[in-house]
Amino acid sequence: MYKIKATERMKEIMGAYFRSLESGEKKVAWCTSVGPAELLRSFGFEVYFPENHGALLGATRAAMDCIPEAVKCGYSGHVCSYTTADIGAFLKKNSPLQTHYGMAGAPKPDLIAYNTNQCREVEDWFHFYADHFGCPIVGIHPPRHLDEVSDDEVALVVRQFQKMVPVCEQVSGHKFDPGRFREVVRLSKEATLLWQKVLKTSTAAAPPLSFFDGTIHMGPIVVLRGTQVAKDYYALLLHELEENARNGIGFLPQPRTRIFWEGMPIWGKLRMMSDLFAANGAAVVASTYCSSWVFDQFDEDDPWYSTARAYTEIFINRSEKAKMAMLTDWFGEYHIDGIVYHDSKTCFNNSNARFGMPQRLRERTGVPALVIEGDLCDLRFFSEGQSITKIETFLEQLEANKIYV
Ligand code: SF4
Repeated sequence: MYKIKATERMKEIMGAYFRSLESGEKKVAWCTSVGPAELLRSFGFEVYFPENHGALLGATRAAMDCIPEAVKCGYSGHVCSYTTADIGAFLKKNSPLQTHYGMAGAPKPDLIAYNTNQCREVEDWFHFYADHFGCPIVGIHPPRHLDEVSDDEVALVVRQFQKMVPVCEQVSGHKFDPGRFREVVRLSKEATLLWQKVLKTSTAAAPPLSFFDGTIHMGPIVVLRGTQVAKDYYALLLHELEENARNGIGFLPQPRTRIFWEGMPIWGKLRMMSDLFAANGAAVVASTYCSSWVFDQFDEDDPWYSTARAYTEIFINRSEKAKMAMLTDWFGEYHIDGIVYHDSKTCFNNSNARFGMPQRLRERTGVPALVIEGDLCDLRFFSEGQSITKIETFLEQLEANKIYV
């Protein structure tokens, strides 16, 4: 049984992170997962990420009981199931944070910040809480779907980031400290570069980190970036995975095929999916999802510009042309034999199989594609039997057509 030893350390730091949110020692800011967390952290806020809670609701399958509560309040069952699961959990006063971390529930926000670089849904979602708690809310609305992000567009985002400063000063009670901001960006950059190296260990012939394990180990880069704790964790994880790769130790020692996962995870079926691919000799070695927290443009010497650019250039916020270029590069780097697109019913923002991209990308790269239908949290949209049949057939065809060199 392949095991990543650093997992124990990750559980400790995630537990400590959640407990710190309700210690009462610091003000709490809520933030979108690819939002300006570094700026918030520089003011001394504890930063809480509702999407992380959405993933927890999906992974524990508690989402299925919570979504109907939000639907009763007027939220469609066809909008983002992070949103509906999270709002439903709040209305039901029922969260895995209680059972897993001994918390009372999500921490009360002093400030809410969102960035529509990923979708507009976060704006509606976060406004629900700003209205409920009567707390200040700030939004970043960057240009979307660009082939290239120009300096003019980055300058617009910088101005929006800078408009947050007076609100953060007022709520936190601290003056903006440029040195502290630079320091947080430096820590965030160092952690994110380590995370990038962690992901790249799976370019090895015996890959040491699967996409499914990556969705678990990405916890600290989502919720703790900008801290020494996150940086130290990824140094530890990288050391272990590099050693495994050097020694030919991987989660699947001799994969017959190497797969790219595109789109959201199906949180309630991670184990099932992981076992299914492994049983068919397929290693899922890379994904757009786990790569979304690599911000390699961060630069502490130019913290405003570099964070604005990094958060605007993320995969989900780009044009099809830019996405296809990124995917083509990843296919080469990870020696990909096939790509599986998860067409997530309630997140069209992170589903790239609806406008012909799989066909166009196959023509360009020759990499075969499979589309499966499902959802990030709402398992009513996922047919397990049908998906297993589609995936097994796809993997058989990949093997049959593979040219071994
Ligand atoms: S990107 Fe998708 S899953 Fe994430 S918050 Fe937006 S709609 Fe929900």
